[in-house]
Amino acid sequence: MKKHNFYAGPSIMSQYTIKNTADAVLDFANTGLSILEVSHRSKEFQAVMDEAQALVKELLEVPDGYSVLFLGGGASLQFAMVPYNLLKNKAAYLDTGVWAHKAVKEAKLFGDVDVVASSEDRNYNYIPKDYTVPADADYFHYTTNNTIYGTEIRKDPDTPVRLVSDMSSDIFSRPVDVSKYDLIYAGAQKNLAPAGATIVIVRDDAVQHPCRPIPTMLNYKTHIDKGSMFNTPPVLPIFSALQTLRYYKELGGIKVLEKMDLDKAALLYEAIDSSKIFEATVPDHADRSIMNVCFVLKPEYAELEKSFMEFATSKGIVGIKGHRSVGGFRASLYNALPIESVKVLVDAMKEFQNKL
Ligand SMILES: *Cc1c(COP(=O)(O)O)cnc(C)c1O
Repeated sequence: MKKHNFYAGPSIMSQYTIKNTADAVLDFANTGLSILEVSHRSKEFQAVMDEAQALVKELLEVPDGYSVLFLGGGASLQFAMVPYNLLKNKAAYLDTGVWAHKAVKEAKLFGDVDVVASSEDRNYNYIPKDYTVPADADYFHYTTNNTIYGTEIRKDPDTPVRLVSDMSSDIFSRPVDVSKYDLIYAGAQKNLAPAGATIVIVRDDAVQHPCRPIPTMLNYKTHIDKGSMFNTPPVLPIFSALQTLRYYKELGGIKVLEKMDLDKAALLYEAIDSSKIFEATVPDHADRSIMNVCFVLKPEYAELEKSFMEFATSKGIVGIKGHRSVGGFRASLYNALPIESVKVLVDAMKEFQNKL
């Protein structure tokens, strides 16, 4: 049976990426070698790295003076690398969920952290609006998309200080004004490639003079100076990332992806909002994520959770169990998910409801 993959991460990848990766596992770029066994210093892999970096720059319209890196350690390592390199005295953080919270925890190891606002009081089901970023902070860090709770900030903020963002679960789903940011990072496994690589887009002059001695591998300058090839990079995820980036370009770029994502999200939210038995966990439409749609059964239908899950499974729907801290259901609608899969989910919700 055809599967409809709504996993939050690792998550669905395009057939283009999967097929080309599978082919390269057998024969990479006509080398007669597998991508799994080829030197990262080979000219064939250098070409992969160069094109992947160039395509990130092209798709996101990254201005001159920035570098694109593919690092190991996941987005979680960036929680520490960012303050290690940039936090001299004090940093400002917006607390919009577990990932943002973990970033705060790491930053506290390096200096003062001013949490300018938090939505923890309502289990992170909204985006705090009224806060000011102190002008004496070394930088402001926020999470664009809160994967677990299904909230999202889709507008690049104006801040008086350096801007740093975790875009792990919504990068490539909207145009970004990169010039507003000093550093953007994103784990690959949500909207780009298999787990193992983290994209970092960094303004070169922001990290030239770190405020403390930093181990070589954790210093952004090391990786900038070596074109993200200081040590062995995650070769296979970078190869797959390149396939996805080519696919995104072929589809027409970020604006086309954004339109597809908006259409998918609108279809599902519409079905939830008009449903007798389901409700969205994020009440304010403006705060709702277009990547991760979180919903629950209304309290009077709560006992149907297991039976809806089984019904959905029987339709080939995979990965809609909500995160344990929210419960209910979460449908992740990343770029590679076709709208047909959303239609299957919406139809399953309607059919289930009509049978009651
Ligand atoms: C998944 C996720 C992370 C964690 O990524 P790892 O690569 O597992 O460290 C961090 N931030 C956000 C917003 C995420 O969705």
